Amino acid sequence: MDGEKRKEVLRAWHAGVVDLLGYKFTPNEEMVDFLLEQEVKLEQQHGSPFCPCQCISGNREEDMKIVCPCIPFHRKHFDAMKQCWCGLFVHKDVTDPSKLRQIPASEIPDE
Ligand code: SF4
Repeated sequence: MDGEKRKEVLRAWHAGVVDLLGYKFTPNEEMVDFLLEQEVKLEQQHGSPFCPCQCISGNREEDMKIVCPCIPFHRKHFDAMKQCWCGLFVHKDVTDPSKLRQIPASEIPDE
């Protein structure tokens, strides 16, 4: 499957999964396109669509927590920011993601 097709498959699959978690794609379509493209490249290199914004450690158990969408593993943190770490997904009620800010996980109690 070529990169463009794979990107569309990931887009459709992600949309269904994150919908159940109360999230949606960011309205910033350029960003969605760019991040999905990076995920396709990571999948081609490493076998899974890893997060474009988090480092692959080489520890399989840990790395499985950063396969997109990683929301279930970082729920408290992302819910506090109303977006995932990359900003690919935002809470469903977010209309302007530029108003959101990133909060380090260290600032989230018990994260
Ligand atoms: S931070 Fe966002 S883009 Fe990165 S893996 Fe998690 S859900 Fe996907």
